[in-house]
Amino acid sequence: MTDFPIVIGTAGHVDHGKTTLIRTLTGVDTDRLEEEKRRGLTIDLGFAPFTLPSARTASVVDVPGHEKFLKNMLAGVPGMDLVLLVVAADDGVMPQTREHLDILRLLRVQKGIVVVTKTDLVDPELLELAIEDIAGALAGTFLEGAPVVSVSAPTGEGIDRLLATIDAVAGETQPRDAAAPFRLPIDRVFVKQGFGTVITGTLFAGTLSEGDAVSILPTGVTSRVRGLQVHGGKRDRAVAGQRVAVNLVGLERADLGRGDWILPPGALSPAETIDVWLELLPGSPVLAHRTRIRLHHGTAEVIGRVALLDREELAPGEGAFAQLLLEGPVVADFGDRFVLRLYAPMATIGGGTVVNPVSHRLRRRQPATLEALGHAREGRWVDLAGARLQEAGTTGLTRAELAARLPRSEVEHAIEALLASGTATVRGDRLVHRSARGQQEGQVLAAIAQGHHAVPWRLGVPREAIQATTQVPLKALTPVLEALAQGGELKAIGRLWAQSDWQARRSAEQAWAMETIAERLESGRFVSEADLLADLPVPPTVARDLLDDRIESGLAAKLGQGMFASAAALRSAQDQLRAHLSREGTVTASQARDLLDTNRKAIIPLLEYLDSQGFTRRQGDARILASN
Ligand code: GDP
Ligand code: MG
Repeated sequence: MTDFPIVIGTAGHVDHGKTTLIRTLTGVDTDRLEEEKRRGLTIDLGFAPFTLPSARTASVVDVPGHEKFLKNMLAGVPGMDLVLLVVAADDGVMPQTREHLDILRLLRVQKGIVVVTKTDLVDPELLELAIEDIAGALAGTFLEGAPVVSVSAPTGEGIDRLLATIDAVAGETQPRDAAAPFRLPIDRVFVKQGFGTVITGTLFAGTLSEGDAVSILPTGVTSRVRGLQVHGGKRDRAVAGQRVAVNLVGLERADLGRGDWILPPGALSPAETIDVWLELLPGSPVLAHRTRIRLHHGTAEVIGRVALLDREELAPGEGAFAQLLLEGPVVADFGDRFVLRLYAPMATIGGGTVVNPVSHRLRRRQPATLEALGHAREGRWVDLAGARLQEAGTTGLTRAELAARLPRSEVEHAIEALLASGTATVRGDRLVHRSARGQQEGQVLAAIAQGHHAVPWRLGVPREAIQATTQVPLKALTPVLEALAQGGELKAIGRLWAQSDWQARRSAEQAWAMETIAERLESGRFVSEADLLADLPVPPTVARDLLDDRIESGLAAKLGQGMFASAAALRSAQDQLRAHLSREGTVTASQARDLLDTNRKAIIPLLEYLDSQGFTRRQGDARILASN
């Protein structure tokens, strides 16, 4: 497949003939600004359509060579698939030839051709020397061994050969991913009379169609595509690798600018802290921790500082994990390339890969942190997901929270793999790492053992007491308890939890008190707490624990207003009331009191308790069966 759209860019020192070459190849003068014309100098990016001899269509991005406008050049490179590195035969390799070459390399432009211009100004001997000089500069770069074509604009010499070479090398480029979600970095914004706001850019990935809902990031403004053009021709859709002009609905000129991204709503998030693998150029000065830099990513430039995560300084030619602490938001994705320049003096010092596009200030020199960044750098997404889950500790992460820490395309597979390997388990709506799971279970078991020791007379430990002694969040506690019960390690008695072989250990007094409470509950039908717990040989708190054990094990119920009943007494009261109600339809409080042969103090708590249990329902002054 060699008919996908590609972008061909220029690079090279100022005045070496880039703009002239593009005019010769395409017939378009890319120096469109008035100031550019006046000064005979490219200041900003220039664009032209370009039909190759094979009839394949391409776009050209012409960049400024002057070092003062390097920031504009940097906005043009990320869209390039193939670069024409222009070197004037009479001048040879100059500072921006090298700096542009570094930038092309750092941003991973795929392919290139070296174009030696102004051959009409030198004799063959000098041309030969210039070409040797160039080959030396390209050694060890992606352009080592790239085709070298010598041309002259005024004479037209070499132009046909260059066209044929461009066609051939274009055939070796790989297409951009047209199936991915669309990603468009804005390089120009203008207002067109009768249309409104129009932006231009190179579609990095995906397909953009008329009517698509879009999000402008980092601002988060949303809009819709009203119309699309590719090189002045109206289109219904544009695909990755095309230069597009997009007319957006309802936006003001001030809503957006170079550096912003057009993305599907919700696709990526802006962040002021990103984690990167940073490589310093061999010619860079040593980079100290917290050095002020300019980040160039997509078409954006953002100022910030470099925080080196495992050292105090980075030597030229070396790489390290770092955080970029930025003064404004960037919208990056995993694996994005970027360039760093010093804040001052403005020199290109290096670049690298985004390993975590949305981060927060990290503690330095943390082995676990560096290991996770290593997983991201090497594309070990399952390991990265595992590390993120482990970081989340006992609380774990929801699927959505974990998804936000991974490349979108990897989320499903990573979660599946973690569950299949047992690295993660599902706890309610959260995923928890195995190590945290062991930790949580250990904490819960310890809390229960401690509870048994503290209150050995009880049947088990109340949930609230377990929660109070563990660090396990409440929403995570129930699933842990249930898992342990399922595994046979715990048993549940109402709200109480106990080791599965746990037996209450009661002193003779406590055993006597428990028996007395049981007897009082069974004999008197509705008993007050005062009557139940009077004259027992144990402290009141222990007596209350014993009564609570009885309730939690389902042998008694608390009615309210300090009244209690045995389960048997409750059942018999319910039987009598049901018989009465199915005969008469309703019962008043005084009828119920007489029917159950009890007193005013007991009947109201009993009826309210039965209401709360869904047995009866109030209707005016009386009650009916709730199921009616
Ligand atoms: P850029 O800064 O790299 O874009 O360079 P330009 O295209 O603006 O060219 C700089 C100057 O070099 C202009 O005056 C051009 O006319 C001149 N120039 C460009 N190409 C050639 C060439 O092949 N031969 C000669 N003699 N002059 C050239
Ligand atoms: Mg120019």
